[in-house]
Amino acid sequence: GGTGTASTIRQVKLEKESELRIEVANDTPLRLRLLNGTAEIFGTELPPQIWLTFPPHFKFAVFTWYGATIEMDGTTETDYTADETPMVSYVNVHAVLDGRRNQAKASPESSQGPRVIVVGPTDSGKSTLSRMLLSWAAKQGWKPTFVDLDIGQGSITAPGCIAATPIELPIDPVEGISLEMPLVYFYGHTTPSQNVDLYKALVKELAQILERQFTGNAESRASGMVINTMGWIEGVGYELILHAVDTFNANVVLVLGQEKLFSMLRDVLKSKPNVDVLKLQKSGGVVSRSSKFRQKSRSYRIREYFYGIANDLSPHSNIANFSDLFVYRIGGGPQAPKSALPIGADPVANPLRVAPVNIDRDLLHVVLAVSYAQEPDQIVSSNVAGFIYVTDIDLQRRKITYLSPTAGELPSKYLVMGTLTWLET
Ligand code: ADP
Repeated sequence: GGTGTASTIRQVKLEKESELRIEVANDTPLRLRLLNGTAEIFGTELPPQIWLTFPPHFKFAVFTWYGATIEMDGTTETDYTADETPMVSYVNVHAVLDGRRNQAKASPESSQGPRVIVVGPTDSGKSTLSRMLLSWAAKQGWKPTFVDLDIGQGSITAPGCIAATPIELPIDPVEGISLEMPLVYFYGHTTPSQNVDLYKALVKELAQILERQFTGNAESRASGMVINTMGWIEGVGYELILHAVDTFNANVVLVLGQEKLFSMLRDVLKSKPNVDVLKLQKSGGVVSRSSKFRQKSRSYRIREYFYGIANDLSPHSNIANFSDLFVYRIGGGPQAPKSALPIGADPVANPLRVAPVNIDRDLLHVVLAVSYAQEPDQIVSSNVAGFIYVTDIDLQRRKITYLSPTAGELPSKYLVMGTLTWLET
């Protein structure tokens, strides 16, 4: 381990089928390069000789199939090599999926490739496995669609969203998924229990749009999907897994690190003969993250949306009149006080109800989604263009100041509010 040691360049020799597991230090980045041999980070091959810089707190592994020498420059929280990994079983799954993609491509009407859904508790390595399957597929020229249903720790866009994007190249180990036009639906909360019906409705919308896109695109249809899910597997969480399997017509269910969930899903999905349920081992390298860490990384994701991963974006501060923007909230929401409603109204009567929100100080530090809706009643069924962050509310002059990734007018005047907030630090 490199705990607390001074910054020095050192080499690590990796035997075949082993990995170097690293947690970057809390305050300084780590530089790393592949000196010789071949190695990959979560499915993406490292370029030879080129130094890569990993930001503080980053947790990852450099895996080699045939042996490699890695050079590191900087301090780490921990780093160690492990020769027991589930990588062979993961790549075997990839090989099966690859066979199905080829079959789909070769069939006369070019049929549907595999639709894989990855499920398991939090910190079982779901995002990591999704990423590997996507990168391995992209390396072979497929264009699989990545669907991320994780509203807490999603890897496509800001928290509180579900999203999908085609993966055309192996995912960059540092930058993550490139953000070219993802299809994003704004749920607005980081737990599904806030409004389960809304969550389901958005999953359905997303699935319908993808289905339509697949109809016109044989290549992405044959490539299939990889669907990442939330770590919520009990009660409503379990119900939402089944809902996602159904809604996306998933035909491969990969269960990570939980025997009970595996046997429950296997039993309940027995009635669907074309659905395969597979159990996979959780990697010993997966790092458990505290809820505080999760909260921090959500806040970091929002920061990243506006400022970029390496502070390479410069968001614009804009000012608008109260009368220029229309803010809406979806559903009654459990925190809407009954006293604020007409007598006799049930606060949870219609979870998909779109209600206007008065612009006042409550909007300060709120992250709002910019809807593509043309009319308020289309808000639930519309995807979003992006997000703004409210930095000031001037009640006297009736002006709202907000941060936006771009200057100029917003693509729509309809904004959606949830419970997502951010304190810029
Ligand atoms: P989940 O999606 O199930 O919550 P993740 O895939 O996000 O879990 O993994 C949790 C953390 O562990 C992430 O920071 C990830 O980068 C890290 N991680 C996963 N696999 C390994 C590994 N083999 N070695 C080191 N870190 C890993």
